[in-house]
Amino acid sequence: MHDVVMPGMRAIEDEMIAVRRTIHAHPELSFEEVATSGLVAERLERWGYQVTRGLGVTGLVGTLKKGSGSTAIGIRADMDALPIHEDTGLPYASSLPGKMHACGHDGHTAMLLAAAHYLASDSCQFDGTVHLIFQPAEEGGGGAFRMLQDGLFERFPCDAVFAMHNMPGYPTGKLGFLPGPFMASADGVKITITGYGGHGAMPHKTVDPVVVAASLVMALQTIVARNVPPLETAVVTVGAIHSGEASNVIPDSAELQLCIRAMTHEVRSLLLERIEALAHGQASSYGARAEIELFDPYPPLINSEQETAFARQVAVDWLGEGGLIQNLVPVTGSEDFAFMLEQRPGCYLLIGNGDGEGGCMVHNPGFDFNDDSLAIGASYWVKLVEAFLR
Ligand code: ZN
Repeated sequence: MHDVVMPGMRAIEDEMIAVRRTIHAHPELSFEEVATSGLVAERLERWGYQVTRGLGVTGLVGTLKKGSGSTAIGIRADMDALPIHEDTGLPYASSLPGKMHACGHDGHTAMLLAAAHYLASDSCQFDGTVHLIFQPAEEGGGGAFRMLQDGLFERFPCDAVFAMHNMPGYPTGKLGFLPGPFMASADGVKITITGYGGHGAMPHKTVDPVVVAASLVMALQTIVARNVPPLETAVVTVGAIHSGEASNVIPDSAELQLCIRAMTHEVRSLLLERIEALAHGQASSYGARAEIELFDPYPPLINSEQETAFARQVAVDWLGEGGLIQNLVPVTGSEDFAFMLEQRPGCYLLIGNGDGEGGCMVHNPGFDFNDDSLAIGASYWVKLVEAFLR
């Protein structure tokens, strides 16, 4: 069968798989990606890239210019691992207890490195600038946001920006594109209800925050059911609720922690607005008061129409419709590449990690990135650069 991967990429495939496995064996958590970014920087410099380190603490950008064109493309890979104890039994499994590349960011980094290697070779021609963005802390801490705060797009102007994530459950190496809202916003909400504590046998002398919390949990369910338009997507989950220590003591306060998800800015604002109104309204109706704090805000990930159509066409021209994941639907997970897509048009796409053995879900101790998709993903980056900087 005709090999879709270019010979130059096949020639470096084994070496890049070895790099992937080295990164896999030495996972680093958010903002601790010192060895990983060091490895990336060393390779990029060896291949002739101008490397700028220290964006978003451990992030870096590798820049390569060919020809005289003024167009620039940004491609981002994430580098961080998760606080999970690996249980794959693989020969290159994590050497560090409690840390693991359980989301395949080792593969994303290696794919972009393989593309970098090929892009720098004489067999690859393009006209313009490539900024390869190696991002820390995707899993927590908003590494993308931190890189933007450090002037990512001012210092490395990109006309469009792209990123790829592996996805178990889809055939190996198939690519998935979806224009518009693709992944959800994510906001943490902490609600503290303050009542007035006292003896469990004399509730009339207290303002019981436990009752307020219970009432609020039920009221919060009406936001999705009664306020969000039925054809829109939204999630309001109360993931934690804490109050009290003893059966005969009515506590002073109760704390709720919520996770909320939406696919659009409008629905996200509606959720926050209704949570606030219900928390204050419910609390005051019982004579208590509520305080609301937001944490870890991530915007919805919205793929721009034009760049997504372009990125998809590059895949179709190369692989045909058969190379694509069909019937892709949006997901209520979140992704901090959304911050970059707020500032530049672009597309976040998926690459199938396999539906057989590669079907183990990300963030599971048995997960591993599928090396069979590495050369395909890397070749796609090359095809995209060649088409974008034609
Ligand atoms: Zn991930």
